[in-house]
Amino acid sequence: AFEESVHISDVLNDCLVLVDHVISKGEIAVEIDQQDVPPVHINPGELQQVVINLIINAVQAMQNKGRLQITIQGTMRDNKEGAELMIADTGPGISSEKLNTVFDPFYTTKLGEGTGLGLSVSQTLIQAAGGLISVRNRPNSGAEFTVWLPAESEGT
Ligand code: ADP
Ligand code: MG
Repeated sequence: AFEESVHISDVLNDCLVLVDHVISKGEIAVEIDQQDVPPVHINPGELQQVVINLIINAVQAMQNKGRLQITIQGTMRDNKEGAELMIADTGPGISSEKLNTVFDPFYTTKLGEGTGLGLSVSQTLIQAAGGLISVRNRPNSGAEFTVWLPAESEGT
């Protein structure tokens, strides 16, 4: 509900303001690489919730020290035009047997602090908007989460 035409870069900018206190208390270098991408059709508050969770997860994984690399680019998936937001960190990454588990409800390694619901809820919200969320480890170190959403014109 409440989907509208959304520019991912606007949502990202709002999120960076909202998490600024988390980023600036550590030694996090934020690197943003963005292309012009088509608008997507989603509830902007829900996309904001997803992006904030990904940024905070990345900062926590890096223990407040490292590089947060954010990329926005246009990408085709299944012959559909779309836009992709990637959030990569220089933390320890995720062991290969846990790469799917991180999306399970209540899976957390933050004992007493995490709810384990962030990625589960994120996956539900992104899939409901016709998109996909995935994770892989980067070649050297760190995790990279990708959120792909179909372009608004793709009938969503
Ligand atoms: P929470 O943040 O409450 O633990 P999430 O669903 O957001 O719940 O994340 C689940 C788990 O996935 C985290 O506890 C952590 O173990 C792992 N995880 C998420 N993001 C990253 C990341 N960027 N690097 C390493 N591990 C991560
Ligand atoms: Mg989380």
